[in-house]
Amino acid sequence: MIKNLFTSIFIVIITITFSQAVNAETIDVSREYNKAIGQRIQFTQEDTVQLSVEDALQSFKKNNFISYPHPIISLGLGSKPVWVAFEVINSKKTAINRNLLIESSWIDKIDIYFFNKQKPTKNYKTGDSQPFSERMIDHRFFIFDHGFKPGITTVIIRAETPDPMVLPIYFMSPEKAQKRSLVQGYSYGFVYGVTFALIAYNFMLFIGLKSRLYLYYSTYLSFFLICNFSYTGHGYEWIWSYLPSLQQYLNPILMLAYGISGLLFASCFLNLKTTFPTTYRFVISWCILFSVLSALTILSNNRLFSLQLAFIFVLLFSVIMVILGTITLRAGSKSALFFVLAAITAMLGAAITTLAVWGIIPLSSLTFRAVEIGMMFDAILLALALTNQFQRNQEEKKQAIIMARTDQLTKLNNRRAFYDFVKPIWEIGLRNKRETSLIILDIDKFKSINDTYGHTHGDQVLIMLGDLLKNEARTGDISARWGGEEFIIFLPETTLIDAVNIANRIRKKVSGSIVNVNKNKTSITVSLGVAHHIDINHITLDELIITADRYLYAAKEQGRDQVCSKLLGSTSSTSTDSINSASKIS
Ligand code: GH3
Ligand code: MG
Ligand code: MG
Repeated sequence: MIKNLFTSIFIVIITITFSQAVNAETIDVSREYNKAIGQRIQFTQEDTVQLSVEDALQSFKKNNFISYPHPIISLGLGSKPVWVAFEVINSKKTAINRNLLIESSWIDKIDIYFFNKQKPTKNYKTGDSQPFSERMIDHRFFIFDHGFKPGITTVIIRAETPDPMVLPIYFMSPEKAQKRSLVQGYSYGFVYGVTFALIAYNFMLFIGLKSRLYLYYSTYLSFFLICNFSYTGHGYEWIWSYLPSLQQYLNPILMLAYGISGLLFASCFLNLKTTFPTTYRFVISWCILFSVLSALTILSNNRLFSLQLAFIFVLLFSVIMVILGTITLRAGSKSALFFVLAAITAMLGAAITTLAVWGIIPLSSLTFRAVEIGMMFDAILLALALTNQFQRNQEEKKQAIIMARTDQLTKLNNRRAFYDFVKPIWEIGLRNKRETSLIILDIDKFKSINDTYGHTHGDQVLIMLGDLLKNEARTGDISARWGGEEFIIFLPETTLIDAVNIANRIRKKVSGSIVNVNKNKTSITVSLGVAHHIDINHITLDELIITADRYLYAAKEQGRDQVCSKLLGSTSSTSTDSINSASKIS
């Protein structure tokens, strides 16, 4: 059904384009041709019976072959065997060597015949269904070196394959062909180098950060690399040269693997499993369905169907990637933006190459390699997406730590943060036998403020007091909300007199402040207990807190809005003599 659909589209395109077909021209052996010579050659397709080379030659001579409107012949998947013919003229007196390049790595069978002055001179049989070692020239493409004798040489080529019938035919001097190979080699070296570095980098990130996301990404890149390595013929040339049967199925299998690994990466990156479970299940079922169908086509040795499945899957895969990204972007995921941009570039690249190879749009070097260009942009944008997501995670973790240590209402430290900050200072104090003070503060009659003006008003009072304590605290002091309407300030290396003075300053500032909420103006007072020890080696932090709390209770007992304190555990200091036991300083 799909095959019929695409065959009909193909026939329509061919009919339209052939109506403006150009006439083939003879090729001049002494000229260099930089472009593919598709428009200078003629072709025909076999019907049901296989033609002999003599039949083909006769048919060509009788002008039964037709011209092709584009430089590269591209007839889609499962095309009937194609006969291509063209004439080469050598007006010199001696033979001239030229290379004939068929830059397609996957054609199963290629038979090439040379006739000089109507007589057969040479013929070769090749194709990727034959072992690599049987090739005339050791190259990933099919290259023929031929000495063109004076006069007219007719070249006839028969190509047969269920793969995309793509025939980029070039005609040039051996030197030029070698240079062309070299340039192509450099460009693939660049693509493979960048991709390989990214694979290694992301795999290291996976090892280091233990995040599966990076594993999925390096797998996706690896399959892109292997798939490209396979369909460009590099794999057959360098790795599986002796396995022509593997070469026949590797392209569709690797295309499928590339698509599936891309979808798994997308699902993980966009967190589909938790945010869009139904979509996630759809994606997984989709991958399983195509894998099963693909396995069946391989088992039943139906290569054409296997290739059609792979092409459809890759086309849909790129569209699905963009849709998935857009869904999650609309759902508010910020890092999905880079993902969508990356997916769009990859989609455009993959779609252009797939459609060009399939014969639906004209094939050129640019359309053939569009997937690589797309993937390079995809890789750069995804690297940005991954960095962005990593940064977001770090920021969220940092925020979570801060949140866990901050009192949400007053933005002061909470009890846990108070202990965390005081601990190292306390240890230094122990080593240096330092004195230390501590203040506990409690709002007077706070309950009645809540009762009279409401809880929101009470909250505003607490916020005001929090700000006031932040302003009053000296560098090195640690203040925190101790609970309800109680606050604590740790004052390292502070004498009792200084601590009492600070406590008093706070008390005065508080009583002078007015809290204004919805035109309800209130003023509050606070009671403070101050504890002190001349050498903290003789006391624990909790004992110091309990002592400060006792003085706070005393301040409340003695009528509130006051500071109470006593010199603890020391008889040596004279500086605190002025402060009486549980003294009231107003
Ligand atoms: P005292 O002078 O003896 O300390 O009297 P008090 O009313 O301040 O003491 P009490 O312990 O009876 O009441 C404390 C009140 O503080 C009760 C509680 O509802 C209120 N409170 C505790 N945390 C908050 C808070 O986060 N927001 C508000 N608005 N009120 C709070
Ligand atoms: Mg109170
Ligand atoms: Mg209280």
